[in-house]
Amino acid sequence: MCGIVGVFGHKEAAGLAYTGLFALQHRGQESAGVAAADGPNLACRTGMGLVSDVLGGSVLDALPGDAAIGQVRYSTTGDSNPANAQPFLIRHHRGPISVVHNGNLVNSIDLRAELEEEGAIFQTTTDTEALLHLVARSRTHDVVDAIVESLHQVRGAYSLLFMVPGRMIAIRDPYGFRPLCLGRLGGAWVVASESCALDLMGAQFVREMDPGEVLVVDVAGIHSLKPFKETRSAFCIFEHVYFSRPDSTVFGKPVQRVRKRLGEQLFREQPVQADMVVPVPDSGVYAAMGYARAAGLPFEMGLVRNHYVGRTFIQPTQEIRNDNVRVKLNPVRDILAGRRIILIDDSIVRGTTSRKIVRMCREAGASEVHMRVSCPPTIGPCYYGIDTPRRDELIAATNSVDGIRDFIGADSLGYLSLPGMLEAMKTDEDSACTACWTLEHPVAIPAVDAQQLRLFERGQR
Ligand code: AMP
Repeated sequence: MCGIVGVFGHKEAAGLAYTGLFALQHRGQESAGVAAADGPNLACRTGMGLVSDVLGGSVLDALPGDAAIGQVRYSTTGDSNPANAQPFLIRHHRGPISVVHNGNLVNSIDLRAELEEEGAIFQTTTDTEALLHLVARSRTHDVVDAIVESLHQVRGAYSLLFMVPGRMIAIRDPYGFRPLCLGRLGGAWVVASESCALDLMGAQFVREMDPGEVLVVDVAGIHSLKPFKETRSAFCIFEHVYFSRPDSTVFGKPVQRVRKRLGEQLFREQPVQADMVVPVPDSGVYAAMGYARAAGLPFEMGLVRNHYVGRTFIQPTQEIRNDNVRVKLNPVRDILAGRRIILIDDSIVRGTTSRKIVRMCREAGASEVHMRVSCPPTIGPCYYGIDTPRRDELIAATNSVDGIRDFIGADSLGYLSLPGMLEAMKTDEDSACTACWTLEHPVAIPAVDAQQLRLFERGQR
């Protein structure tokens, strides 16, 4: 879970990258950083915490130059520690090179083991560092060739930005798991995970990068390469369900519009008699709008969110997560008392949040609480860059819908079906990644994980 941004050809490149990262803060709150290129020199500042904490004040003064790349991060591969904060900036035989990565490489453990056996020294526990080693080892003269050669050795999800003196290289993996878009700001080029970052930077949206595209940006302009074998796409549907910001356009579709359609479809599949529709803010808001519109029921903000608390899920322990639901959400008694409500959220992961919220609504006087979820039951972890827990911690991997309903204490529970979700998204299973609902992995996952999934399956039978 990361957001990345790059700027080329603007005298305030680092400041713009900082602005873009601000709009991508929802994609990661653990660490932030920016690297800038000033002629032949690259400099970098990273740290743990939010964008404003890490890069505020006079930090950007140390990052002059007309090109910059930045990242906000929440770890999926690698621990949460300062060494893992990106951008990485290293020096190799071709000079300085900096990189930021959104996604997850599925063969990084094997790659790392091979590299270490051959004597490579690692400073971080991330998959991205293995990629840098491959680039450094490549015998090709030009760095773009080295990057392409290295990428032929990795598998998985990657939206990447590399920066070397005089050039920025933006890459989307051949499956296009994670989004990446291109924008224009005056004479400068801008690249960002989501279009909402372009908006804040004042840049015009040009287009999304294609899956498998390598875009080289230099003073001459942009130059697009397609060095990988063409393959099916595997756009991450969860970007639309939960992760991306509603004001972004992702995989060619406005996120808020998709979420409303998911809600409308959810009503068609899972109607129920009630007085009003109440979203779990913020993740369930647009699906709830769609559901309410289709049902002809009032949409009411029966839960109010405190915006000064981070996302509950992004907390290190179960204990903290439980406390945080109360800190984050407060029921509005005046709206809920004596009413039959349909509570809408985008997904149920462990079930602990929903359980708390259902109880909260009942305590506030709701007479019936019907839970509706705008995606199918989440039964598998993500190996491509979304932080979901292990399979045995996913409530839908070990429980039936009735079992989950009992656990969360709702009067009824209904999920959107997989065909319904694909229909609402106007996509099909062959061009999207649905692995968290189907366990069908577009790129083979590591053997040890595949075995774990099989053992789990056997245990469930
Ligand atoms: P849980 O209590 O584990 O069932 O959490 C469900 C809540 O977490 C829902 O409100 C989702 O919007 C949210 N959620 C789902 N996936 C993620 C994720 N990968 N990271 C953070 N929050 C998530």
